[in-house]
Amino acid sequence: PETITIQELANRMSERGVDVIKLLMKQGQMAKITDVIDADTAQLIAEELGHTVKRVAESDVEEGLFDAPDAEESLLPRPPVVTIMGHVDHGKTSLLDAIRHANVVSGEAGGITQHIGAYQIVAPNGAPVTFIDTPGHAAFTAMRARGAKVTDIVVLVVAADDGVMPQTAEAIAHARAAGVPIIVAINKIDKPDAKPERVRSELLQHEVQVETLGGETLEVEVSATKKINLDKLLDLIALQAELLDLKANPARPAEGTVIEARLDKGRGPVATVLVQRGTLKVGDVIVGGSQWGRVRALLDDKGEAAQEAGPSTPVEVLGFSGSPEAGDRVAVVESEARAREITEYRERQKREKAAARGTLARGSLADMMS
Ligand code: GDP
Ligand code: MG
Repeated sequence: PETITIQELANRMSERGVDVIKLLMKQGQMAKITDVIDADTAQLIAEELGHTVKRVAESDVEEGLFDAPDAEESLLPRPPVVTIMGHVDHGKTSLLDAIRHANVVSGEAGGITQHIGAYQIVAPNGAPVTFIDTPGHAAFTAMRARGAKVTDIVVLVVAADDGVMPQTAEAIAHARAAGVPIIVAINKIDKPDAKPERVRSELLQHEVQVETLGGETLEVEVSATKKINLDKLLDLIALQAELLDLKANPARPAEGTVIEARLDKGRGPVATVLVQRGTLKVGDVIVGGSQWGRVRALLDDKGEAAQEAGPSTPVEVLGFSGSPEAGDRVAVVESEARAREITEYRERQKREKAAARGTLARGSLADMMS
């Protein structure tokens, strides 16, 4: 049920908390300033104090902010978004680096020094692919908990000399829970003690059946450090993407997800946002979690200024009032007033939830001591 703390109620009416408490006492209810009361009681109190009450439901504020359907004919193909997962030391970072560098033409070498948590490359078939390089398993879970689905494909890295390990199994579980297809990359194939056959049969025990064992899961043997079969991996990603028939409407207000965010000394809050639908533009008013702002600048994964970013494009966004959190969903809204309404509402919700938790905690502590 809807609740509010006495402090918050008093604040919103610009009344003193003690006056609210007095009124509650008149009704036979003993309360402290930090206590939570239900919305109906709050409304009675507010009216008693001569205020007009407008109850705002979540649906009024959040309605239509995300996931409004797009007309079929507005949908255009978009690049796949790929996350590399796997056990520690099996070569995730090496593989991401190898793919990134294989894609840098020599004149451009050193051009990609920017780290924004995600980057886009052009596969040998000419199609762009977006890689997200922050989600460790914890971040992946946090994002999913917030309802953010950022990944289309998981590349599961398994070291051929080590086999399926606990975090390999975890990654399989994550991908499955998120309904995301897996491509198996058996890495370190250059090592003399590499046993790719063993990896395949171990995967089978986790119900991942690769193609060579008659299953449907795409697989490739690679070496991140010796740069073996990287093109083949990219081909498989392109193939999987084609099977997924990924589409988005680029011609609508943008929606996306914060991949990472930080406070930069000179530039203020900097958020890497993966645009998922629509096109994000300089000047747009955006909300992300309980932060909002007007996009002052967009920087691509090479650190170059961009005017706009379409579906599946990662960009650094400057202009947020404060740092949003990884996993926060981002949406363009029609005005600053609307952005303020949404973020103030979310801020209040956060405060009230925290207050309710505090009351509960105190209650149970009191119970324990009595
Ligand atoms: P992560 O923890 O999954 O990100 O793994 P890293 O990318 O940090 O790699 C762990 C170690 O394995 C490093 O010492 C890498 O140099 C090494 N490594 C990664 N890929 C390969 C490979 O394909 N072949 C060999 N021989 N070593 C690799
Ligand atoms: Mg790593």
